[in-house]
Amino acid sequence: MSDRLISTRDPERIEYGYSDALLQGLAPDGGLYVPGAYPTVDEESLRAMSGLDYVDLFTRIKSLYVDDIPSETQAQLASAAYSKEKFPVPDGNIVPLTQVDRNFFIQNLSLGPTAAFKDMALQPLGQDMNHALSEREQSLMLLGATSGDTGSAAEAAIKGLGRAGLVMLSPENGMSDFQSAQMSELTGGNILNLSVRGNFDACQALVKAIKSDAEFADLGAVNSINWGRIASQIPYYFSGYLHAVDGLIGRPVDFVVPTGNFGNILAGYIAREMGLPIRRLIVATNENSVLNNLIQDGKYQKTPAQITTSPSMDISEASNYERLLFDIFEGDALKVRDYMQMFKNTGTVRFEDFDLPYYTLREMGFDSGVSHAATRLESIRWVHAKRGIVIDPHTADAVTVASRKADEDVPIVCMSTALPVKFESTIESALGFVPEREDPRFIGIEEREQGGFVVVDDDIDEVKEKIRSFRSDSL
Ligand SMILES: *Cc1c(COP(=O)(O)O)cnc(C)c1O
Repeated sequence: MSDRLISTRDPERIEYGYSDALLQGLAPDGGLYVPGAYPTVDEESLRAMSGLDYVDLFTRIKSLYVDDIPSETQAQLASAAYSKEKFPVPDGNIVPLTQVDRNFFIQNLSLGPTAAFKDMALQPLGQDMNHALSEREQSLMLLGATSGDTGSAAEAAIKGLGRAGLVMLSPENGMSDFQSAQMSELTGGNILNLSVRGNFDACQALVKAIKSDAEFADLGAVNSINWGRIASQIPYYFSGYLHAVDGLIGRPVDFVVPTGNFGNILAGYIAREMGLPIRRLIVATNENSVLNNLIQDGKYQKTPAQITTSPSMDISEASNYERLLFDIFEGDALKVRDYMQMFKNTGTVRFEDFDLPYYTLREMGFDSGVSHAATRLESIRWVHAKRGIVIDPHTADAVTVASRKADEDVPIVCMSTALPVKFESTIESALGFVPEREDPRFIGIEEREQGGFVVVDDDIDEVKEKIRSFRSDSL
């Protein structure tokens, strides 16, 4: 069955349902949930999708991966996740394509409540979780740590849900005013923001330590490895494809994805496995080029992350890559375990260590490129000069790599993963001005909202006490 899930580290291939995977996050053996097989979509069904609005398209694709929620309910959950209030677009297409040049497109995935593409996955995740919890007559308190974007997107997704709550730890210093304003605005009800006197590492260490305590073992996680997030990202590749080929179904298209944890591009890979005619899946990295080395040289090497001006891609390893690895090893969970163990122990693994050629990923249709501080600014200027639109620094990394890889005859689509309003100082460096904010959600937000945080010491007992009393009050 294609809609049952298995763990990347389980040689027995025990099957799980969608809602189990959703509520658990990580599989019991430490692996990641993946579909036992990919469902396929033929050309005729693809053609039939051309006219659908996004919520319908989304439901049609995603339901192929959901075995335990009736399809009518799925449609309702999708409508709630992608409502007009959350995605205020004029024509219902919440993932629209803009043409920048001949055969060169940008697909905007950042029109949701927090102006980053994390909303595309987290909004449905929140709805699905709440549904699964009510079916089971359970409630769930989530605990997470953030250094920026994930915090507000997760909070916007959980805010107001009856069955779930969220405690988010963030470093007292280190987030931008915009980010802390976004989180402040979401404080209250089932959301608690704790501002820790310490850095992001301290926040992560607290989360880990608290969860290992039996009293808090039932706290859920918000992180990028939940299968529900990937399942909700596959459909926008179908939408992007259909708009890019403009009726010429079957024509190949390239996608360029600004990549961090490999979640977004993995969804593109799965779309292609399902039969979507994607030619190349191109990873764009910033100065943290771990994935470029992996794709070009077959070497996966953990590297300390450096801070850049496209901060949501500042990674030292890419957790969702394990899902692709499972396919590279043709479903051999023991090889996945060995590979990940070698990576954990030594910090470096090569495909050659597993008798695979170093160009394995390129053979599978992946490609990659690196963008730097200077090319990031150039790409912001180029798109602005060309079309009068302002892109954010992450999108600019995709544009940089796309301009190197573009080939005249095949449409290329760059994924746009945040709005420039979140990164105004970089926009100012590139263009010499900051565009006027038009979206009422973000006008004056820094002045409007601050102070939604409870400040705590980097002290586990203090944080536990805060969680304890919040939990008894709110769920
Ligand atoms: C999270 C994020 C990314 C990276 O996406 P992955 O799915 O982790 O590869 C890129 N851009 C922005 C703005 C993000 O928030």
